[in-house]
Amino acid sequence: MPTKVVIIGGSVGGVSTAVALRKAGCDVTVLERAATIVATTGAGLGLDPKTCAALTRLGLRDIFEECSQPIPIEEYRWIDHATKSAISLIKNDKHLHRSMHWSDLHRLLIQALPEGAVNFSHKVVLLQQSESGVTITAETPNGEKKYHGDIVIAADGVGSFARKQLVPGDERRYAGMVAWRGVCDGNAHPELLAELKADFKTLGDGIIFDIADRCMNLIYMIPGNRINWLWYRDAPEPKLGSHSVTIRPTTEDMQKLYRDAENTWTPAFVKLIKTSKAPFMNVIYDKDPITQWVFGRVALMGEAAHPTTPHGSRSTNMPIQDADCLGRCFEAQPHDPVAALHKYAEERIRQTTKEVLFSRHVGEVRQGHWFDPVKFDWPSQTPQIKSLLLNGKQTEPDYKKCATELLGNIQTIGKGQSVLATDREQ
Ligand SMILES: Cc1cc2nc3c(=O)[nH]c(=O)nc-3n(C[C@H](O)[C@H](O)[C@H](O)COP(=O)(O)OP(=O)(O)OC[C@H]3O[C@@H](n4cnc5c(N)ncnc54)[C@H](O)[C@@H]3O)c2cc1C
Repeated sequence: MPTKVVIIGGSVGGVSTAVALRKAGCDVTVLERAATIVATTGAGLGLDPKTCAALTRLGLRDIFEECSQPIPIEEYRWIDHATKSAISLIKNDKHLHRSMHWSDLHRLLIQALPEGAVNFSHKVVLLQQSESGVTITAETPNGEKKYHGDIVIAADGVGSFARKQLVPGDERRYAGMVAWRGVCDGNAHPELLAELKADFKTLGDGIIFDIADRCMNLIYMIPGNRINWLWYRDAPEPKLGSHSVTIRPTTEDMQKLYRDAENTWTPAFVKLIKTSKAPFMNVIYDKDPITQWVFGRVALMGEAAHPTTPHGSRSTNMPIQDADCLGRCFEAQPHDPVAALHKYAEERIRQTTKEVLFSRHVGEVRQGHWFDPVKFDWPSQTPQIKSLLLNGKQTEPDYKKCATELLGNIQTIGKGQSVLATDREQ
């Protein structure tokens, strides 16, 4: 009998897990709270080489390559406040990422599953475990329904219902910033695209980060000649009206955004913001890494397991790599799903702990909350995190070296800023 797996959450993490576990021979059911997938949901994302390899292992290489494009250059620029002009700081031409629209990736993953594998309008409200399995209660438009699995994977995102039930006192951490984001159709606005390419010389081949005072934007193309942009801004924690971390702005919010943009960015970027249809705001959270992901027959994955800030394109890459790892562990232990879950957690907790912490610090540095990697705040890390990192065969000096290397290029931005600040003072 195949292992019966119920997955809570049908976003990128949940559906990639479904694809991976079906490939490993499991019988998979996905329960998703949302009523449907909206074709235009989301914006762009960058897939790193490990994720591309994972999607290839899932048998999706040809289709995902068709819907994505390489962005081999990564460039950082400093925006001079007085002139609103950009100064290139560093360019890396070995950025082996591919860009894609979130909804294309989500659609591809869903299409890789049999029809009906994802049950929409199913909000999970209760998890009950016994020795032999887990019973899940979901609210549906037709009343409550019960599902039984040998195991359950909770892929229910940053505000995970399952994590709250399994890890009492669990809190997420507001990162002190929000991301405004949008996508603009370059085909409908060829003059704007030409103006952007004149400003951002590497646009088309790369991802460009502009750093200003206490904020950062980034821009890259996604297939279909679409221009994807983000603007990270420090802000007091916004009030969320629902479970979603996305906020749709009011007209007043947009007017303020335009004014602030004019005061911060190059004219072409300001025009891009003003031209994009329906920009939106994501409130950014992460969480100090937790050291247990498996609770009996239930395991956490994706944002439910390791809420992370999006810097370094971690938030979509990590769940796909979790799914790939789950698939490999189930293939290796087809008759012992609980052992497979523990093997998965052992491998992924170690890796994602580093990524969550790096992502947090990278974000803080880029945002201008300056951070000295040589003095990486090792002493303030919890004993669990220290022991996890050390178990990962990293000694404390190795870890510092690693942090220093990773952040070395970003430090250059810090130098860029101080040079420019000195110039202004003179
Ligand atoms: C609609 C949407 C659009 C996004 N767009 C982008 C983008 O453009 N670019 C980008 O980089 N990232 C985007 N993200 C974020 C990115 O996909 C995720 O941060 C990352 O992939 C982690 O995915 P996840 O599956 O672990 O968690 P999430 O993507 O947060 O998904 C969690 C899922 O669980 C469901 N869920 C929660 N509670 C329950 C419950 N009790 N019962 C059943 N289902 C439940 C949610 O509805 C959601 O679909 C988007 C996420 C969503 C949900």
